Amino acid sequence: MALLEEKVISVHHWTNRTFSFKTTRNQTFRFKNGEFAMIGLKIDNKPLLRAYSVASANHENFLEFLSIKVPNGPLTSKLQYIKENDTIIVNSKSTGTLVCDYLLPGKNLYLFSTGTGLAPFMSIIRDPETYEKFEKIVLTHTVRIPEELAYRTLLENLNNDEIYKEITNNNFIYFNSVTRAEWPRKGRITEWIKNDKLWEEVGLEKFDPINDRVMICGSEEMTAEIKNIFIEKGCEEGSTKAQGNFVIEKAFAEK
Ligand SMILES: Cc1cc2nc3c(=O)[nH]c(=O)nc-3n(C[C@H](O)[C@H](O)[C@H](O)COP(=O)(O)OP(=O)(O)OC[C@H]3O[C@@H](n4cnc5c(N)ncnc54)[C@H](O)[C@@H]3O)c2cc1C
Repeated sequence: MALLEEKVISVHHWTNRTFSFKTTRNQTFRFKNGEFAMIGLKIDNKPLLRAYSVASANHENFLEFLSIKVPNGPLTSKLQYIKENDTIIVNSKSTGTLVCDYLLPGKNLYLFSTGTGLAPFMSIIRDPETYEKFEKIVLTHTVRIPEELAYRTLLENLNNDEIYKEITNNNFIYFNSVTRAEWPRKGRITEWIKNDKLWEEVGLEKFDPINDRVMICGSEEMTAEIKNIFIEKGCEEGSTKAQGNFVIEKAFAEK
């Protein structure tokens, strides 16, 4: 385990609540797609670190992160001002449960995210192995307003993207919904699952616990609610110790 220094390559502000950035990647930093690491800034010469999912895939030679901007948040009130060539620090030990290996083999893989919970799935959907393990990969992202749909253009076009079309082979499906503004697909993802409209909307057969697998990343409330829905459908939670039908990680800790 080491604290690595990485240079910021680019920064993109999605809204006044979220931004993403790319940094250099020390090749000694190895991670499984879907994992998180502790990253941050040196403040008064001391490291201030927070858990961040790596949004880039592990075959890429850069690192990418999607971040919230918490007003008065110890880290993000400063991190949101980073610019090209600034230095961030990355703890090279990664961990996490949103890893395909912790799921039983299956047919379709559903990735449910809200807010910055999208980040680990940006890594998983850019990993060729995901498409070797599953037939269809469905990514859902729910946010409050359309502007918060980070990476929307990339996700809408992933199957035609010059780089990623070879990886997805047309098997990637993107579904977004918005809770607090007019939008073609309104409402919380839990409603879309409960009333069975999601499967129709993404053009797949109804969820089947025998064949389908699930990953969940969002707020405490969202993860708990979706977990219960899938337990009621007969699913079991997987972990680093035993494979299951679904795995979960909270996108952030409430204080
Ligand atoms: C396993 C794990 C993975 C994480 N991955 C990411 C990630 O990829 N991107 C990311 O932005 N954050 C992520 N977080 C949250 C992150 O660790 C920090 O909490 C966040 O960067 C804010 O840091 P802060 O010091 O500014 O404020 P903190 O003191 O850490 O947080 C203050 C409060 O802000 C709220 N908050 C924190 N993070 C979020 C968030 N992401 N979305 C909405 N509200 C939030 C919470 O209510 C929290 O109590 C993750 C947390 C965990 C536990």
